[in-house]
Parts: sequence; structure tokens; C-alpha cells
Amino acid sequence: MENLKTLENLKNVEKTENGAADAGGAKRAAAWEELRTRVASCAGCELCRTRTNTVFGQGTAETPLVFVGEGPGEDEDLQGLAFVGRAGQLLTRILTAGGISREEVFITNVVKCRPPGNRVPSTEEMMRCGDWLEAQLLLLRPKILVCLGGTAAKWILKTTEGITALRGRWLEWRGIEVFPMFHPSYLLRDESRRKGSPKDLTWQDVQTLKERFGRYRSGPCPVQKKEAAP
Ligand code: SF4
Repeated sequence: MENLKTLENLKNVEKTENGAADAGGAKRAAAWEELRTRVASCAGCELCRTRTNTVFGQGTAETPLVFVGEGPGEDEDLQGLAFVGRAGQLLTRILTAGGISREEVFITNVVKCRPPGNRVPSTEEMMRCGDWLEAQLLLLRPKILVCLGGTAAKWILKTTEGITALRGRWLEWRGIEVFPMFHPSYLLRDESRRKGSPKDLTWQDVQTLKERFGRYRSGPCPVQKKEAAP
């Protein structure tokens, strides 16, 4: 219920901003900080009992490109940061090699607290935490939303299709372009670089993503593009 109240408040901020430009986006910035505070103390589902830290997500809020994964893992839970463990480090390497810096995007998860043993979050947990994600997306207003892995893609797109069928396709959620990709933890389980392997397909997806991101990006790419996939 508390989540829903906050979401309604944030929708009102959105309407106000659309009606009359809020100088400097001050209301939006204040709403973002309120959201961060509320997530930090959230007890909206059972995951609050076992978490060390909530993981709000990080990066820049002024970005056209947002990544959404499934949920925090052990490293993320301990540090309170998204995608900082082995999978996160691999994601950083892949994006950097493709010419996309983590500093110019925002990265978060469907659920903000670690499911014990890294299990898949339950539907109820995702429903309860989904309000926070929706509020984040309302405020971030990205042009491109990358769903990392099947759980995030199914949750956002409300589909039963698996990630293998969804990845590399341009889809849509509330006027935002959605681009599902494999979760980096999946790539850690298959090191092959053969044609058609998860790594090879992800490398293709990053090229596609970079091209589309370039349409919305302001300023030059802040990272040096490398010649080959990491
Ligand atoms: S997972 Fe989400 S809804 Fe559940 S306690 Fe954490 S922040 Fe709250």
C-alpha cells in the first residue's frame, strides 16, 4: 500500500512536469531522492527479512538507456550496489568493449532485495517491488530499456516467451523501446565464443544496442571502442 501511495505521488509529479516545465527538474529530482529513501527502508515483502542492503540501482538518472536485471546477488546485497559481482563485472567489460560506459546509463533490478540463495524472485515479490521499478522508470523516462535475462523480460513485457526467443528483438513497453538481452550470469556459465553461442549473440546485441543508443546519446562516446569482444 505504501508503495502504491508513493507511485501515485510520483505520477502527479510527472503530470505537473508535463503541464508546466519544472525549472531544472527540481520536483523530479526531489521525487527521485524520496523514492531512494523509501526503497531503503521498504518492508514490502519477505525479502526484507534476509537482505543486508536494498539495492536501488546506480548510474546517471539523466540517461536514455536503462538496464533492468532480475535481483541483487550476494555481492550486490553486501555492497548495496547493482551488478558489481562477477556477472556485473562481465557486463561492464562487454558494454565498455562495445563503446557504452556504465557511467552514462542506469542499472537496476526488478526486485531491490536479494532473494535467498539467488533464487528467482516469486511473482508476489515482483508484484510488490514492481511499484518501485515502475516509479523509477516514470522518473527516468528512458528511450531504451534493456531487460537482462528472462525474468526481467517476462516481467516487463508480460510474456511467456523465453529469453532465447526474445533477445535481440525490439519490443515496446509504454512507449519505451525494450531490448531483451541475455543476463551476464548466463554468459558466465558458457564461455564459448563460437558463432551462435550466448557470448557471440550478446556481442551482436551490444552492437545493435550501441547503434540505437547513438540516436539518443548527447555528446561523444566516453569510452574507447575496442576491436574485439571481451
Ligand atoms: S524486494 Fe522490494 S518490496 Fe520487497 S522488501 Fe525489498 S524493496 Fe521492499
